[in-house]
Amino acid sequence: YDAVFLGMGLQGVNALAAKDEDADGVVDAVDYIADIRQARDLSRLPVGRRVLVIGGGMTAIDVAVQSKLLGAEDVTILYRRGQEQMKASLFEQDLAQTRGVKIKHWVMPKKVLIKKGKAVGLRCEYTVEKKGRLEGTGETFDLPADMIFKAIGQTFVDAAGGALELSGGRIKVDAERRTSVQGIWAGGDCAAGGKDLTVAAVDDGRRAAESINAFLKA
Ligand SMILES: Cc1cc2nc3c(=O)[nH]c(=O)nc-3n(C[C@H](O)[C@H](O)[C@H](O)COP(=O)(O)OP(=O)(O)OC[C@H]3O[C@@H](n4cnc5c(N)ncnc54)[C@H](O)[C@@H]3O)c2cc1C
Repeated sequence: YDAVFLGMGLQGVNALAAKDEDADGVVDAVDYIADIRQARDLSRLPVGRRVLVIGGGMTAIDVAVQSKLLGAEDVTILYRRGQEQMKASLFEQDLAQTRGVKIKHWVMPKKVLIKKGKAVGLRCEYTVEKKGRLEGTGETFDLPADMIFKAIGQTFVDAAGGALELSGGRIKVDAERRTSVQGIWAGGDCAAGGKDLTVAAVDDGRRAAESINAFLKA
């Protein structure tokens, strides 16, 4: 091909750094949302009674609200910093709270509590910010849960094995969305400097298409 556009999004998931995060009952929020979107019969989807969601972005809000709508009794979002630092907008936070979702700030997960191989709760630690650095206060508490969602962000997986220059862990592009390799463009979440929004991915596609068109005509 004379021109290739890469738009593979983010395929990796950040690790929680909490002990036993791979226990049964700890679920990746993005996978669960994909299951909801593709389910023919929502009543067959497993949903916890007491649900904890770890994260502070749109994915956390989405999975918390969806869990509530699917019948979870108690849904709490745990975020390690304050309300104003949450990536989810105040509008989205409000939306979740009006649906009955609780949001706890300044807490981080320490350890998944397990009984007979299954998650039954989460040990959390209060956090504090000192000189811009987040640290635990040492004070912990346990929250019961039968479902714990990880919604702590996705990461770019460099399938090209270093062939393309990266910036901040994503593919480096210029204003026309050209990568460091001639003939290859990239856009959307996999490209550096973006906003991780659908509208931004569409804009990247348009800019790259115009650039590719000019390149092929030259
Ligand atoms: C839970 C959640 C809620 C969100 N809510 C909003 C919202 O309300 N508003 C908003 O603007 N944005 C929202 N976003 C962000 C938005 O979804 C992304 O910014 C947008 O989808 C990025 O588009 P993209 O084309 O770069 O990547 P994607 O939409 O991720 O598409 C990438 C595609 O490439 C495919 N792919 C990957 N690797 C390969 C390969 N090797 N070969 C072939 N195909 C491959 C993937 O399967 C996928 O289909 C949300 C994201 C999440 C996770």
